[in-house]
Formats: sequence, C-alpha cells, structure tokens
Amino acid sequence: MSREEHRATREQLGAYVLEQLADDERIAVRAHLDGCALCRAELVELEPVVVRLGEVDADRLTDRPAVPPGLGDLVVSRLMVEQRRRWRPPRWVGVAAAAVLIAAVGAFAGWFASESGRPSVPVESVAVGQAAPGVSASAALVPHTWGVEIKLTAAGFGEGTPYRVVVVDRQGHDVGAGEFVGTGAAEMRCNLNSSVLRGNAAGFKVLDPSGVVALSSSF
Ligand SMILES: [Zn+2]
Repeated sequence: MSREEHRATREQLGAYVLEQLADDERIAVRAHLDGCALCRAELVELEPVVVRLGEVDADRLTDRPAVPPGLGDLVVSRLMVEQRRRWRPPRWVGVAAAAVLIAAVGAFAGWFASESGRPSVPVESVAVGQAAPGVSASAALVPHTWGVEIKLTAAGFGEGTPYRVVVVDRQGHDVGAGEFVGTGAAEMRCNLNSSVLRGNAAGFKVLDPSGVVALSSSF
C-alpha cells in the first residue's frame, strides 16, 4: 500500500471509530485496515478512548476543567527540549563548526603569543612625601591603559582603621582609588586602582576616617 494511503487512513481513524465517515470513506479505511497491521494497532488504541468518550455525560460538564498554571510554558519547554534532542546537525554544519573553532583557537593562540611576548607594563617608583607619625611607606605606580594603579607597601597605619586612597588629578580633584585597613606595625601591601590616566595623574593621598591626610605623594 502507498504511504499516502497509510497517512490518509491514520487521519480518518478517529472519525472512523466515531462512525462519522461517509460510506465510501469508511469502506476505504476498512480495506486499508484489513491489509495494515500498524493501522489496526492504532485503531485498537483509539477504541477505548472512544468508549470512554461515549460514557461522558455532556450535561454534567458544568465546569470547565481548570488549566494548571504554567501549563503553556511547560508544554513549550518540553517541545524545545524534544526538538533539541531530535535535531541532528547535517554533516556540513559539523565541518563549518570545526572550521570556526580552528580559526578561533588560532586567533586565541596568536593573541596569547602576542600578549605574552609583549613587555609587561612598566612600574614607576614614586616618591612618598608627607606621612603621619609612625607611618613608613613606599609606593610604585603602574600606568594602565584604564588608569593608574598605586602599589603601596606600608607599615604603621592604625590597626583595624579603614583608610581611603585617592589619586589627585591635574585639576586638583580627588578620584577614589579604593580603601585598605591598617595593619599596625605589620607591613602591608595593597594595589589601588584609579580611573585617572597617567598623563592626568599628579599624585595620591591616603586619608584617615576623618579625612586627614595620612600619606601623600606627588608624581
Ligand atoms: Zn496503515
């Protein structure tokens, strides 16, 4: 039998079971069923459903059955999972994907080689000027493309006291570069990043909680 005949029969099985087909259609379905075990099996599955439908008393269906909340989303997500599971990329997609991956790996390797071959950002040592009593410090500056970083090594800042660091730009503005907590006599190292570019950076200050300058430096 033809695939087309098989498909047409499947579509008509419901109506056949419900005895809704015209005579000629019913005869055609009957003839197909006689020769097709698959469609007969489908019919066997349909019949109990039809029997149950016959038992339903339409007059007693006063309420619409409630649709569980989120059912729509659930159905859609199930369908998408199913689609993903069934989808097999054609062979040319695999080849194209491999080519893209190879190009990406090559580009990354090239980038990595150029990055690692590039000299590291130079560190400028900067003079530390005025300091609060008991504070000893040295500092270096790294002129990143996004702004200067202060590398501060110090001892003598009040233990447990929070300090604020600002970079002073050439217009005299204080621009925040982060905070640290003092470690008393123990030496501390911290890196403080600002958004002030090297060309516009004039110095930095460490301010205690009351805003008093505990350390300052001019570049
Ligand atoms: Zn069939």
